[in-house]
Amino acid sequence: MAASVTEAETHVLAAAPGAGRYTGKAADVYNWMRGRTAHLDDTQQSAREALIYRQGLEHAIAAGDTKVIRPHRCPACRTYGLFWREQAGHAACVNRHCVDEHGLSRTWSLERLAQQHIADRKLRAVGTT
Ligand SMILES: [Zn+2]
Repeated sequence: MAASVTEAETHVLAAAPGAGRYTGKAADVYNWMRGRTAHLDDTQQSAREALIYRQGLEHAIAAGDTKVIRPHRCPACRTYGLFWREQAGHAACVNRHCVDEHGLSRTWSLERLAQQHIADRKLRAVGTT
């Protein structure tokens, strides 16, 4: 968790240098991040949300909960069926038609899944207005 707080603080200071150091409790760091970066543009706010979401996935997986991967669609083929490869440290697509140039299953980092999740969430939000 300390590493997560450090990463969050570093992210904020890069985007908003006047934010100051974070001195609160680890559990409150995301509220602090959002408050200090609320004035930034859409792209930077999406990057912040992706970081928060990725850390959530990392924490769940570290606690043994790999089921957090399943609700995500594959960023390439958009089907469900991603699973976590513990040894490799990435998600892989089970769709046998979804392969890279070597014929291997496409794989995704948690960072990439988080970015996709935030982008999809924004699209859904636009669709409902
Ligand atoms: Zn796929």
